[in-house]
Amino acid sequence: MRRIGRFAPSPTGLLHAGSLVAALASWLDVRARGPGARWLVRIEDADTERCLPGMGERILGQLAACGLLPDEAPAWQTSRTGLYQAALDHLVAEGLAYPCACSRKDIALALEAEGVRHRPNAERVYPGTCRSGLHGKPARSWRLACSSPRLAVRAAGLAWQDRRLGPQLQNVVREVGDFVLKRADGPWAYQLAVVVDDAQQGISDVVRGEDLADNTARQILLQRALGLPTPSYLHTPLVLGDNGQKLSKQNGAKPLSLDTPGDVLHALGAAAAVLGLPATDSQGLPEALAGWVAAWRDLYNPPP
Ligand SMILES: [Zn+2]
Repeated sequence: MRRIGRFAPSPTGLLHAGSLVAALASWLDVRARGPGARWLVRIEDADTERCLPGMGERILGQLAACGLLPDEAPAWQTSRTGLYQAALDHLVAEGLAYPCACSRKDIALALEAEGVRHRPNAERVYPGTCRSGLHGKPARSWRLACSSPRLAVRAAGLAWQDRRLGPQLQNVVREVGDFVLKRADGPWAYQLAVVVDDAQQGISDVVRGEDLADNTARQILLQRALGLPTPSYLHTPLVLGDNGQKLSKQNGAKPLSLDTPGDVLHALGAAAAVLGLPATDSQGLPEALAGWVAAWRDLYNPPP
């Protein structure tokens, strides 16, 4: 089996110390498998409202400065929306997805009527109002029918293995519910786009930040619904901001400073440390990266 990994940044801002960890980890995982393995970069610009013009190119420039060069021309999600529509059409035709007319308020009221208490900041679990049809109302979104007979057993106890975190289990029906695949007036949902893209690009190994770990069960369920293979998963440690949350632009992450070779080694060294890799005494970028490839092989033992 050909091993293919990827880094998939959103062009909403420049890379910072947190996003470099995911970039470096996914690159190391591919390089640790030796020749023939391929590392791809996919610019996740499907959520066009949040994306900044020219930012994808600037991120690619930052990666190049760090010696992280993709093995193929980068893919851009906005050029792939036909694939997402075909996947959604397939799910609807199979009875595995359905349109939903509910607003956020409708969902909150339906749950309240059922006596479901809402915890602040928790995602509301969709109560299934539109499973039986729209009753003349316009569709606001399309949802995956998690509790349809073909998905329910798996969705209710979705077990998967993370290469760093170990065995994982999520009850998608109870903890997430029928999740959104597309909004009628807006972008494609991350879950559908990432599953379609990973399969179409032949991604065998997903390496990404731990904040995305709890999306994985939903993505595996979608892979099953679409008859697509499931890649291996490794979720990396996160860099935390001053508030203890994942480092992001919103909590003060600064763009990487990559102006000099010393800056580049410093930024990569910090990312390597987050991944549990040793400090480098190399003065040159290629030597430092080669040292981390060997250390990655020892630590994360990627299957060949
Ligand atoms: Zn609904």
